[in-house]
Amino acid sequence: MAQEAQSPCYHMGHGMRAICLILLVLPLAGRGVHASPAAPVVPAVARASPHFNVETATDAWLATVPAASKTRSDAYFEGGYWLLLWDFLCTVLVMVILLETGWSWRMRAAAERITRWRPLQSFLYWIEFAVITSVLTFPLTVYESFFREHQYGLSNQSFGSWFRDQLIGLTIVLILGGIAFTIVMGIVRRLPRSWHWWAAACGVAFFAFVAMIAPVFLFPLFNKYTRLPDSTLKREILSLARANGIPATDVYEVNASRQSKRVSANVSGFLGTERITLNDNLLNRCSPQAILSVMGHEMGHYVMHHILNAILFALIMLAILFGILRWALERGLRWRGEHWQVRGIGDTAVLPLAALIVITVSFLTTPIGNSFTRMQEYEADIFGLNAARQPDGEAEVDLLLGEYRKLNPGPLEEAVFFDHPSGRTRIYAAMRWKAENLCLFDPKLACISQPGR
Ligand SMILES: [Zn+2]
Repeated sequence: MAQEAQSPCYHMGHGMRAICLILLVLPLAGRGVHASPAAPVVPAVARASPHFNVETATDAWLATVPAASKTRSDAYFEGGYWLLLWDFLCTVLVMVILLETGWSWRMRAAAERITRWRPLQSFLYWIEFAVITSVLTFPLTVYESFFREHQYGLSNQSFGSWFRDQLIGLTIVLILGGIAFTIVMGIVRRLPRSWHWWAAACGVAFFAFVAMIAPVFLFPLFNKYTRLPDSTLKREILSLARANGIPATDVYEVNASRQSKRVSANVSGFLGTERITLNDNLLNRCSPQAILSVMGHEMGHYVMHHILNAILFALIMLAILFGILRWALERGLRWRGEHWQVRGIGDTAVLPLAALIVITVSFLTTPIGNSFTRMQEYEADIFGLNAARQPDGEAEVDLLLGEYRKLNPGPLEEAVFFDHPSGRTRIYAAMRWKAENLCLFDPKLACISQPGR
């Protein structure tokens, strides 16, 4: 998930990050190099005219990207496919080491020596597990989210500042993950037959809670959030919000340039803490039309209850995941539990085996998770076009996103690896919308497309 380096989830470990991205933020992100334009620079054939053609206009927008930039962003994004595999294999290796060397049962024994109270034993085991796992996967983490980001010119951060963010992320994982693990272990011990259902329900309740507190308590640990000062743009954004029934009285700005050069915005929060945030890179690098188009997209997430939908989706996925987990844990322990000195499912030392099963299922279901998110993003794009009416602003932003996300992938590649629609898909949708609304751009033109357009 290296392409989501702008989001607060990026500072969390591999396992937590995927869940965080689904639940906490629905970002639209990119990167670029030029200063804020006054208006989108529309290619000649993409301007409103009687000969406007959706395909030609889409191609013309894509052709504005220099070949060298396209090659670089393709290389960055395709490298991400391999990182998915390396992340998975690296975590598998660490879990196997913990089980086979006996570190796992020794960590449990250490926790039992410190206290006889079982919930505290679970919490202490989690601390040992999370710290050791983070240390062992650190070489890959530092390559993936520090050196590689610098190599492609995507990061603004010094090593010290990046490392500080990692430590804050780890602290959050230690505390929140420790609470979650302690609760799940308590459920497993008390309800040995039906624990997987209860654990899935508790998991979703827990994530909903984290999604609720994140904008207020977690994200500000990494970045500074301020209210956007009064301006014509802010008044336009709030007007767009009112027109779409969003009770927003404020828009937040985040200093994302502290970490990266990417433009982004997101809607985060749940049950009363929802907020729309745009980052300083977006404000500094995009035309007002492009910013309004992004805001229309983010409001789409809000109006269509995408965070709630993501939580319901997580409930289904967790129920399936915990069902598989229970089945595979019982078999795994029968096969080698004695050798690993794991006493049963209620023993904390079983965690590396559980993690092994969970990451395998997550890895294999990556296309499902990506497709769920991508479908929501496409819905938000369509909502945004209707709300903001800025197809050229949309195309401007889509090209900025294309600086780190492959612009023109094959259909299967997009279905498997893309958690947002590709640049081509998004620009095509924007030009299709424009073709049906040409009169907004030139009153002499008809507002319903002609055959062949
Ligand atoms: Zn989005």
